[in-house]
Amino acid sequence: MALIVQKYGGTSVGSIEKIRGVAKRVLEYHKQGNKMVVVLSAMAGQTDNLIRLAQEMTDEPDPRELDVLLATGEQVSVALFAMAVKSMGYEARSLLGFQVAIHTNRLFGKARIHDIETERITKELEKERIVTVAGFQGLDGKGDITTLGRGGSDTTAVALAAALNADVCEIFTDVNGIYTTDPNICPRAKKMDRISYNEMLEMASLRAKVLEIRSVEFAKKFNVPIHVRSTFTQERGTMVVAETEDMEKVLVSGVAFDKNEARITIKKVPDRPGIAAKIFHPLFKSGIIVDMIVQNTSEDGETDLTFTVPTSEFQKTLSLVNKVGKEIGAQKVLGDKNIAKISIIGVGMRSHAGVAQKMFDTLAQENINIMMISTSEIKVSCVIDQKYTELAVRVLHTAFGLDNDLGEKS
Ligand code: ADP
Ligand code: ASP
Ligand code: MG
Repeated sequence: MALIVQKYGGTSVGSIEKIRGVAKRVLEYHKQGNKMVVVLSAMAGQTDNLIRLAQEMTDEPDPRELDVLLATGEQVSVALFAMAVKSMGYEARSLLGFQVAIHTNRLFGKARIHDIETERITKELEKERIVTVAGFQGLDGKGDITTLGRGGSDTTAVALAAALNADVCEIFTDVNGIYTTDPNICPRAKKMDRISYNEMLEMASLRAKVLEIRSVEFAKKFNVPIHVRSTFTQERGTMVVAETEDMEKVLVSGVAFDKNEARITIKKVPDRPGIAAKIFHPLFKSGIIVDMIVQNTSEDGETDLTFTVPTSEFQKTLSLVNKVGKEIGAQKVLGDKNIAKISIIGVGMRSHAGVAQKMFDTLAQENINIMMISTSEIKVSCVIDQKYTELAVRVLHTAFGLDNDLGEKS
């Protein structure tokens, strides 16, 4: 008998029929004597619909009220799921974030979980009930509803698994595991049996949707093994686990891409102490996260500075940088939204030379120009023209020996 936390994503609970299917699946585990905690997302498309409604109402929805609105999506799913279980003759209890309670800070729209109470869930489990918890939502110190950011139900599930000391956390989704790259882009992508927390963190930081980054941070911190698998088949998926020595034998384990970054260049800024601090200060104050930064070698006391920000922050960043550019006497500010960041990821890079070189050679052979480069211990990223994204992913996937043998989804 085990304590199992399962999370089902939006497409898995996208219709009444699918919710019934999930209830049947959960009941199979329950009947084997397992204690089941089931985290659900909103039905597919619902969170987007709610955002649209808010935007129809006003250009700048109040963040507190937006969270009250967005949290309703998950409320619908858990209620319907509990009804489904009951209609099959078993006991279930739905709980919203505040009923659990999942305590967060007060950052509406991107709240962080800092503590989870487990008494209520434990009591319900002792009564042999299936407990279903609304994903993506919490309660702040003032008693207000918060949400955790897009994809946040993954984080709810892993955080609950950690708090309840669950035996396993299973993330059910519309693909049958984690692939060497997005299987919807690259038909040769291969399903991995295992991936380390650190590699998954790098993939998630590039918005590989399959797991939300904070869920991986939680899993790593509390050593929660995650099993990512398909809602629609029985086959084993991918385990996300702590690194083992043999993982370093593989040079590159995945290729990720991100089309949601934009590039800003400030031409001819004075090259003297304090300038970078001055440029980035207003961005920091507005909560804009800067990713890559490159500064050219100085010529005649002037230099060019280029950096990337999320596309959603592009306009705001441009206006802030234009303002500060004038103050410091920069020549001009340029912006480009049509870029993509392509990355190769693998813990094996730590112990093998030449990986970056091979990436540059592979892109050069296709005449793809590299605009910016950044590296970490287990990742090399290049910024390229967005129109070459798919091509770059495919050639790198082949060059690093990741293609499956069949030339199609495994
Ligand atoms: P859910 O609604 O279940 O949370 P998501 O849409 O958030 O599902 O995540 C699953 C999607 O992640 C897949 O359909 C796939 O397109 C995408 N994805 C991106 N990168 C990968 C990858 N490396 N492996 C598997 N899926 C990936
Ligand atoms: N419903 C939320 C979203 O669409 C949270 C989730 O599905 O994980 O982002
Ligand atoms: Mg998701």
